[in-house]
Amino acid sequence: MPSLQDQIQSTFTSAKASGNCFVFESEVSTNKDHGIEFQINYVPTLAKKPVPSSIHPEKGKKPVNPFLNPDPGLIVQSYDHYHLLLNKFCVVPYHLLIVTKEFQDQSQPLLPPDLLIAWRTMQEAYTTPGLIFYNCGDESGASQQHKHVQLIPLDGKGIQPPIQALFNKIDNPKHGEIYSLNELPFVHVLLLLDAKVLENKDDEIVEEYLGEMFFGLLDAMFQQLRIADPERPRGTKASYNFIMTSRYMMLVPRRAECGVLKSSSGNVLRLSMNSMSFAGFLLAKTREERSTLQYTNDLLAFLTQLGYERKSPETEQEMETLQEEDTEA
Ligand code: AMP
Repeated sequence: MPSLQDQIQSTFTSAKASGNCFVFESEVSTNKDHGIEFQINYVPTLAKKPVPSSIHPEKGKKPVNPFLNPDPGLIVQSYDHYHLLLNKFCVVPYHLLIVTKEFQDQSQPLLPPDLLIAWRTMQEAYTTPGLIFYNCGDESGASQQHKHVQLIPLDGKGIQPPIQALFNKIDNPKHGEIYSLNELPFVHVLLLLDAKVLENKDDEIVEEYLGEMFFGLLDAMFQQLRIADPERPRGTKASYNFIMTSRYMMLVPRRAECGVLKSSSGNVLRLSMNSMSFAGFLLAKTREERSTLQYTNDLLAFLTQLGYERKSPETEQEMETLQEEDTEA
């Protein structure tokens, strides 16, 4: 039985050769902000050849679901409830998608089995560390409505996502405890995972652990969201971005799919971003977008437009106390 790495490699080689998979050339530049070295991936082909979207289909075009009966040339593995696919249009080679076999909606949260398969795949798929992400909901930057978790390998000097530089500053971090970082002006929650549990060979143990961590974090995110935007009606569907490495999980609620930046020539650019941007990877489709992202001096303010501005730490503390009293009453 070939290893998962071999299967990915051979599917990728033949999918590229047969024209089933396109690897878009990219040029990488950086912009350092608040200790995070953001990576800007300039992918000019994306401006000429936009990837079809079923969430925002082109006018007059019927949305097509590419994940219900995926292209057989892109299937790396089929499991009982999922297909493991190559991303047809990738910037990072070996970008993988885990799609449910039956239709499930991308605005639904990840479930413990989704997290387990994503984690097991990441453990086996790459020789370098990887990043799992999930763009949940209409404002999250997702382009497909059918549930799909994504995985990319991290390599070279970026074997941790750029945002990790801030996580490393947490003093004496404890497994399972939920943190928000003072440096980040937008609402977010993150937690440190217990490597010992994740290394366990027993799927049931790992699945239960990942589910417990994810739903604990999701609860904390909703709590932060209520503080940041008390007017937001309760029970409204939230869009959010999820990122996970072998060490951390992070959630960022989303208010808008696009943020706005002014280029040096005064043009207003609307830039769509997804979970990758909160890991520190930003996508530019034109030279103007690239230079604007590269030279803007407040990328964190740009990311805040996509999410929710945090209240000052004192206000958060006061509101949390009020909310606790409210729930107790
Ligand atoms: P997102 O845009 O985050 O919803 O992720 C969906 C991903 O699916 C994108 O990165 C696309 O490149 C990829 N994609 C689009 N169509 C196909 C397809 N037919 N087969 C495999 N991947 C696809």
